[in-house]
Order: sequence, then structure tokens, then C-alpha cells
Amino acid sequence: MLPKLPFDPAHSLIAGTWTATDETLPLTDPSTGAQLCTIARCASSHVDAAVAAAQAAREGDWGRMSALERGRCLSRLNALVLQNVETLARIDALDVGKPLSQARADAIALARYCEFYGGAADKIHGETIPYLDGYTVYTLREPHGVTGHIVPWNYPMQIIGRSVGAALAMGNACVLKPAEDACLTALMFAHLAREAGLPDGALNVVPGLGSEAGAALAGHPGIHHLSFTGSVETGQRIQSAAARNVVPVTLELGGKSPQIVFDDADLDAALPFLVNAGLQNAGQTCSAASRILIQRGILGRLSERMADAYRVKTIGPAIDDLDIGPLVSIRQRDRLNRHLQAAADLPSLARTPMPSTLPKGGAYARPTLYGPVPPDHPLAQDELFGPVQVIIPFDTEGEAVRIANGTDYGLVAGVWTRDGARQMRLAKSLRCGQVFINNYGAGGGAELPFGGIGKSGHGREKGFEALYGFSTLKTVAARHG
Ligand code: NAD
Repeated sequence: MLPKLPFDPAHSLIAGTWTATDETLPLTDPSTGAQLCTIARCASSHVDAAVAAAQAAREGDWGRMSALERGRCLSRLNALVLQNVETLARIDALDVGKPLSQARADAIALARYCEFYGGAADKIHGETIPYLDGYTVYTLREPHGVTGHIVPWNYPMQIIGRSVGAALAMGNACVLKPAEDACLTALMFAHLAREAGLPDGALNVVPGLGSEAGAALAGHPGIHHLSFTGSVETGQRIQSAAARNVVPVTLELGGKSPQIVFDDADLDAALPFLVNAGLQNAGQTCSAASRILIQRGILGRLSERMADAYRVKTIGPAIDDLDIGPLVSIRQRDRLNRHLQAAADLPSLARTPMPSTLPKGGAYARPTLYGPVPPDHPLAQDELFGPVQVIIPFDTEGEAVRIANGTDYGLVAGVWTRDGARQMRLAKSLRCGQVFINNYGAGGGAELPFGGIGKSGHGREKGFEALYGFSTLKTVAARHG
């Protein structure tokens, strides 16, 4: 059952007012299939109102607030999020099926983004530029204005933290469209933001369907920057909509990230990173290490150790806080199963036991390790978004790099080797946005710029890079003689 919430989950938040929509959508607990509540189903008229409210906030109190005060607002929000970690974790566990400790870690990460961007708000500035005699030239770093944030269901708190947190720090006013499968933590965050003193309209939340509220936001002429995390297909639609309005867009579209393990690696250190980076959040992680490339000399030994780890993982309802929960929805489970039909010919090395007590209506998928898998097999190429990893053998460093770079994606890569020169060579030759050497951070902390190349998207969030992305630069050239 949902804990008592300080807002009505069937409301949107526009211009500081919680409002019901005529139509609603059911919200289901994926651990059991039971309906939890209904949520707002915003239409384009609500998006119009939210964009107008954000614009008014830019022209009002929010636009006039100093960078220092904006930072303090985010710092107060950090403290409030920390005070509410248990509530946030519980509603996330029920809403998206994430085991409680993983949901708790996400709530703490959300607070950390508020802390990081709160501290950074008054530390980003323009420069003076030496120019002709008789001139003073400087740059002003300014907010875009109204930013749109279309967020998925897999890490709602972390993604809201990294995109809305950075956008607010730079003084933008935000319109947030959470995923239809994950909007409760977005509403709770907005509630806490108001408590932290964020002025009305600086953060508006318009829950609803992607094809309705999402499409209306992506194509709205009053939006000055769009941030999207989700599937490649939807990302292509968002980029087309942004192109029509000629606004910048940040796309984070997932991946097929490899971890590469060489013969000389410290296998004890690597093992938990190899397995957990594939099974965390039931594999529904954009930077999941879904391909494990293993050098032939340790293939048998390491494959068996990974298989053993799969056999002892536990799976069950998110509230029971086991290793793995359900997928976010029956729709996602069916989608995964369609992919796995293509794997009927592949050897499976291990499957996690499924307890007979699992609730019948839950969206559970069986964690499975496949290997050896040819690098061009669909299971080694497509983003599956489920608790599935493939092992791909290789012989030489060059072959490992070719396989690692041989998908349409390029988000994250991990390298396990004690050879320092090889570490440096791979860090340069891997085609992706983040490389982890002898660790795997799956995105890493708030400080680390994150984003991809190829079909993983473009633009960077997290770290100071996000602050540059959520702002624009004006050059002022003053001729004074
Ligand atoms: P999706 O891309 O359709 O949804 C992500 C967000 O986009 C949601 O808020 C959704 O409401 C919104 N959206 C959907 N259609 C829209 C449209 N036409 N215009 C504007 N916004 C729209 O993802 P999904 O269907 O929920 O999941 C499908 C697959 O996407 C997953 O299996 C996975 O492969 C991938 N995915 C990746 C990530 C990631 O972190 N990169 C996150 C979620 C899903």
C-alpha cells in the first residue's frame, strides 16, 4: 500500500497549484499487478498552461533570484530530500518495482544532485576576452529560459536530479513530464521543492502519456531546451520536434555497454561489478553492462564464476528488498520475451531460480546469463532492458576493441586489466561517453559528465558539463575608445 502522500497523486502541478485532470491513468504495482492509485492524464492544454507558468516564473521572482539564492534553494531541497528518503524509496519501490535498498540509493543520489548543483549555482560565470584597443569584451552565461524534461521510468529520481537540478541551478524554469509508469517520486520532488522555497512556476509537473503530454511538450514553441532520456525511437521523435522549433536537445538513449576482462585482471575484484552492473534494477539501466567480453585464457573460469553468482541471486517483490525485483510493467516483460525468442538457439550458462511464491500478477523476468554468444547475434546487439547478459569471448586486444565498438550504441565501457599501457590505449580507442578502468560505475556520481555517442544520444548531463548544457553564452563587445 502507498504511504500517506502530502499531495494527491492524480494531480498535476502547474504554477504552484495542484490540479486534477478530467481523465486519469491507472498506476500499477509491478510486483503484484495491483492498482495503486490513479494519476493525472495531462493534455496539450495543461502543457500550454505549464509552459506559460514557467515563462511567468522566468519573468518574475525566479528570474530575478540571484545565483546564490537559487543555490540555497537547492541546498534546502537536498536537506528535505534526505529527510524523506524512506518515503521516496517506498513509493518508488511500489511504483516501479525497484528493490527498497536500490530505491533508497536513488533517493540519496537525488539529494546529492541537489547538493552538487546547489553548490555550483554561483560558480559558473562568463569571461573577459582581450580584443581590440578601446573595447571591453565579456561573456554572460545565461539560462535558456523554459526547459522541458521528459524522463523515463527506470531511474526517475536520479534523472530528475541530474537534469532538473542542473537546469534550476542555472535559473531555467522547468516543465517536467515524468513517465506514465513512474510519476510519484516526481510529484513528491515537486512538493519538496515548493517547501524548499522554489517560487511558483519554477518547476511544473505534467504527468500523462508520452503520445499526449510528452509530444505536446516536445513540440511546444515556448520551450527553449529539451532534455530526454529513454528509447531511441522516442528520442528520434523528440529531436525532430526540437528541430522544428530549432531548440537544443540533450538525448540519453541507452546502450549495449561492454565490460572487457583481460587474462591479467583481478577477477575477485571484477566479479561483483560484472554481475551487478547487469542485474541492478533488473537490468533496466541505460548503462547496464549487458555484454561481458572475456579473453579466452580465463573464459571457462570466469564464466563459471558468473554463472554461480546468477544461481544465488534472489528475486521477489520490491518491498521484500531482495537482489532483483520485477520489471516495470507486463508490457516491458513481454517486450523482453520477444527479444529472448531470438535466443532459443543460444546456450544459457545459468538462470536465477524463480520462487513459486512470486505474486502471479507481477512482471517478473528470469535473470539469464548466455554464453558464448557471437558478437553480431541480436542478443549481443539490441538493448534488451532486462536481467540478461551475454558473454562474448575474444583473443586479442584489437579484437576486443572491435567487438566493444561494434554496436550502434556508445554509452559506457569497463576495462579490467593490470596493464597500465593497455588501460590508456583502451580508454582512447573505445567509442563511448564514459570508460571505467578496474571498476564500473554505471553512470558514476553527480560529478561525472555522462552521455553517449552514436545511438546512445548526444549532449552531456551531470557534473559541470550539465550547467553549460542548460545555459547559453552571450558575448558583449563594448567600444569605449
Ligand atoms: P520511451 O522512450 O517511450 O519513454 C520514455 C519517456 O518518453 C516517457 O516519459 C514517455 O512518456 C515519453 N514519451 C513516449 N513517447 C513520447 C513522444 N512521442 N513524445 C514525447 N515523449 C514521449 O520508453 P518506453 O517505451 O517506456 O521503453 C521502451 C524502451 O526504451 C526500453 O525497453 C528501453 O530499451 C528504452 N529505455 C531506455 C531508457 C534509458 O535510460 N536510456 C529508459 C527507459 C527506456
